[in-house]
Amino acid sequence: MYPENHSTPAVEDYAKAIYSLTGARAETASTTDLADRLGLTPSSVSAMLRKLGQDGTVEHVPYHGVRLTPKGERIALAVLRRHRLLELFLAETLGVPWDRVHREAEVLEHSLSDELTELMAAKLGNPSVDPHGDPIPTRELDMVEPPTRDLTELEPGEKATFVRVSDSDPEMLGYLSELGVSIGQELVMIGQQPFDGPFEVRAGDRTVALGRNLCRAMRMDGPG
Ligand SMILES: [Zn+2]
Repeated sequence: MYPENHSTPAVEDYAKAIYSLTGARAETASTTDLADRLGLTPSSVSAMLRKLGQDGTVEHVPYHGVRLTPKGERIALAVLRRHRLLELFLAETLGVPWDRVHREAEVLEHSLSDELTELMAAKLGNPSVDPHGDPIPTRELDMVEPPTRDLTELEPGEKATFVRVSDSDPEMLGYLSELGVSIGQELVMIGQQPFDGPFEVRAGDRTVALGRNLCRAMRMDGPG
């Protein structure tokens, strides 16, 4: 049912969730954080993590949670490669709006064969980022994540390029599109309104007011 050499969708989803919590760093993810992220109860997450420990996908770190083994990390990077290529393919080739591609890719990422994945990558010109600015792991499963900071970290008057945004909140993405704010655009921080009010930001020839949560989801390229 699922392509040869792929893990089951559940294993892929766990590997991806752990990777997104710990990144490539050797940090650990706790059962509670994973349960939150996957929308599952801590007891079902614990049970699955025991199984993933037995098959060598994760390693348990006493009192801290789990981290991916090299095998688990390859599973995560392979599913991220399929997910991000699918998002770009859906957006560029089929014209699916960028706030909807994530939901479609969440389902398709488990059923795409390696052969089809590589055909899609070639068709897209072996891209290095998806429509949300997330880096796409290479065919060899290497992934470079350039350092970024969130929009609230800009000083008044500072400008930076909007390089990346979380793909998991379609309403946030839809809202940014409505404001005319898009990936690759240069934004200038004007300043924050008093009493923790919205941040005023210059985007092209307009000024937009963005709330703190939204600003924190928006990743900007590093200083200098
Ligand atoms: Zn996505």
